[in-house]
Amino acid sequence: MALKFKGGKTAPSVQSAQTSEQVEVESVVQVPKTFVKTAPPAAPAPSAAKSTNLKFVKRGNAAASTMVKEEKKAEQRMNQLYGFWMKPNSDTTITFIDGNLDGEVLDIPFIYQHHLNMNGRWGNFFICTQEVEPCPICEGGNTPSFVGVLMIIDHTEFTSKKDGLKKKDQVRLFFAKRDTIKQLQKQAVKRGGLAGATFEVSRTGDKSASTGNVFDFVEKKSPLQMKAAFGDKATPPDYDKILSGMYTSAKDLRKMGFGNPSGPVGSEGSVGGDDDYSGEM
Ligand SMILES: [Zn+2]
Repeated sequence: MALKFKGGKTAPSVQSAQTSEQVEVESVVQVPKTFVKTAPPAAPAPSAAKSTNLKFVKRGNAAASTMVKEEKKAEQRMNQLYGFWMKPNSDTTITFIDGNLDGEVLDIPFIYQHHLNMNGRWGNFFICTQEVEPCPICEGGNTPSFVGVLMIIDHTEFTSKKDGLKKKDQVRLFFAKRDTIKQLQKQAVKRGGLAGATFEVSRTGDKSASTGNVFDFVEKKSPLQMKAAFGDKATPPDYDKILSGMYTSAKDLRKMGFGNPSGPVGSEGSVGGDDDYSGEM
């Protein structure tokens, strides 16, 4: 029989009972405190004698696999890509790395995305989790935008705050909202795809799209010319890797303080997807 988890409304109690045993051992450390109704995680469980009695210590294979996970996380942090963003009333020049056409349509990934002002600063992007699990940021009243994702090289010259060096040609993610997608779609048809196309971009005011609202075509490079001009930066992006690296689970968003800590109304504590809180029985 097909089990429907989408929206978390139908998480079946039978399923919880079946999986509670196998999940218990590995999920204890990660269970957010607000969900724990019985003993705290640090309490020793005499029956669960594995390679170590301490739940927060990992040995052997468990340690090795955690090491790999942590390395990947660190790698993702290192490679973290910033979203392209323009100040109101500014101009710059960008070159698209991807954005080829599939027939007449831009062949790019789309996601639901929250753009938040945190500590007085914009530029905090979170993928909305609603397609997978109830979204804590939506619960907080923020409406996600449906955005197309492209990759660009931003030719803006700037001085790095970190090392004081002048930089340009930075690879950025380009999150395009509906109006921008319409424009880019037209440009793509005109230019035979966006990949390799350079545009002078202007943002004409603070109400205009933060990725710019005026696109003046400059030139289009072939893949070989792109490679010659920008080297590895011109390599088409692996979105599976990039977007999965950007995804923060609903559980982790709740840990960051988004949403209602006890989960959305009516979800019966089923938040967290693959985690199982039925261990409280
Ligand atoms: Zn959301």
